[in-house]
Amino acid sequence: MSKVLIVEDEHAMSVALKDGFEFEGHDVTMAADGETALRLAKELMPDLIILDVMLPKMNGLDVCKQLRSDGYDLPIIMLSARGQEIDKVLGLKLGADDYITKPFSFMELIARVEAVLRRTSANKAQQKTVSFGSVKIDLAKHEVRKNDQLVELSSRELRLLTYFIEHPGEVIERDTLLDAVWDHDNPPLTRTVDMHVAKLRKKLEDQPSNPKHFITVHRLGYKFVID
Ligand code: CA
Repeated sequence: MSKVLIVEDEHAMSVALKDGFEFEGHDVTMAADGETALRLAKELMPDLIILDVMLPKMNGLDVCKQLRSDGYDLPIIMLSARGQEIDKVLGLKLGADDYITKPFSFMELIARVEAVLRRTSANKAQQKTVSFGSVKIDLAKHEVRKNDQLVELSSRELRLLTYFIEHPGEVIERDTLLDAVWDHDNPPLTRTVDMHVAKLRKKLEDQPSNPKHFITVHRLGYKFVID
């Protein structure tokens, strides 16, 4: 399931798109003008935006341009009326990922959406460099450095670290970590999680006894804080 923001001011079209995307199992938010679209895009960080060009208050091309210049790289598919070739060229130039001309079939739109989502999630998987504090992590190379010195992590510690990095700011229960990082056939005790978090702190925190990144959330579990 993906979070999709649909920006369309024509009522019939927006209803059809909402129903269609919900039927496909997506979590849909609607906007009917450019300003609302810009605000919601930044607030919700959707996985994808379907963005009509002709909109009240701020047109779709300007919304796209503004998002890109503010550093938001979320995927955008633009919609435009037939014959507006100039919009297509401009839209792609301004950073839209794809472009579709009305009238289109819903199947065609969904196919484009899936292609864009596949492409962007492949990109995300490739650029797996993360840094926090004095730590730099290249997940593709399985390399962790602290103050530019290579840090040795066991494969379990690396899996745990990866899970934390993929869920920044979330409170994660010990059982969730056990499910995600340990094998089911030989379930370890929950204190195994604590032991491994302690090891990560020792290797990666500046002050392991006063952690800034691998935080204990009393009675609940842990939270990974990136900055
Ligand atoms: Ca429109």
